[in-house]
Amino acid sequence: TSTAADPACRPNIPFSFELYPPKTDAAATALHSTIDTLAAAGPRFISVTYGASGSSRTSSLDVLRYIRGATTVDPMAHLTCVGSSHAEASSLIREFLDAGVRSFLALRGDPPEGLTENDTFLGDLHSAGELVQLIHRVQAERVPYQETPIPGLPRARAVKTEREHVRIAVAAFPNGHPRSRSTAQDIDTLLAKQAAGANLAITQLFFHADHYLSFIQRAREAGVEFPILPGIMPVTSPARLRRILELSGEELPAELSIQLEVEPTAEGQREIGISHAAALAEKLIAGGAPGLHLYAFNQHETVLAVLDRAGALAPGRTGRPAPSAASDLCLHQPL
Ligand code: FAD
Repeated sequence: TSTAADPACRPNIPFSFELYPPKTDAAATALHSTIDTLAAAGPRFISVTYGASGSSRTSSLDVLRYIRGATTVDPMAHLTCVGSSHAEASSLIREFLDAGVRSFLALRGDPPEGLTENDTFLGDLHSAGELVQLIHRVQAERVPYQETPIPGLPRARAVKTEREHVRIAVAAFPNGHPRSRSTAQDIDTLLAKQAAGANLAITQLFFHADHYLSFIQRAREAGVEFPILPGIMPVTSPARLRRILELSGEELPAELSIQLEVEPTAEGQREIGISHAAALAEKLIAGGAPGLHLYAFNQHETVLAVLDRAGALAPGRTGRPAPSAASDLCLHQPL
């Protein structure tokens, strides 16, 4: 049986993908085929981003419905709360729950274009933690309890009452949220999200394994207990690198930037991006990361190549449907 020591098969490493809602019908059709291929690789979940202004409400939901209906993979909905009233946020959550979504990434969202953190833009909910609480509350009101009789005991005494499980992830920032005043504030924010009921975190992208590993150590020392998945973004062109640094506020990774700039071909740049991300993934796995979350940019080739090279794809699960029986040797553990 293959084990984690076998570099060709790391059975304990769950992975997940992030997609964004398509803007055209043609892009939606192409995305369905991407989802089919990503699903065949055996991810733990596929998450779908959400426009902070609510602009992608329908298109995000359409993608989540497709994942739920056409694959066996758990769809995870990103939800944001900037600019929403309490009633609007509750109705949004209800709509996603009604569509069968049971996994969420609860986010505050960025200020709308033209506004800064110092402007008034928040709405009734002021932080992701408040959105986590609201998701739990709406879910509890919708399905109060599930009652399961315990065999062999009288029903009055032996009924297990439990809430239907919802997975609520939150964002974490190994190199600090751009508006954070200190590294301690980032950890305090994560603790507040845990207290609100979050049970998973996914990080902002970063380029050095040490940044993630030291963040995890600080978070654990402070009492953060839930798994924190590292977010990995394969950067396959200088233009993409510039764009993501602009959006994330991360520092320029000098070595990767120079390699991408001096490489003249698109194919060569793609190879650099894959190698870099695969090397990062390997260091994270070696450092004890509980899984890998890959930003897929709505394409399967690059992220599957990263996982394959990092030894995280089970044999027969290289993105082609109908995995062979051998892949059962690499079944993933729960997060
Ligand atoms: P919060 O955790 O609410 O934090 C926002 C700020 O408030 C931080 O400075 C924090 O330190 C501070 N803060 C929070 N709680 C407290 C507290 N209790 N006391 C004091 N200060 C506090 N954006 C989108 O619009 N759509 C997406 O789909 C999306 N997906 C993302 C996926 C990932 C993995 C990540 C990492 C980010 C994503 N974002 C997305 C971006 C995100 O919305 C922004 O980074 C946003 O600025 C912060 O969101 P948050 O959920 O971390 O907010």
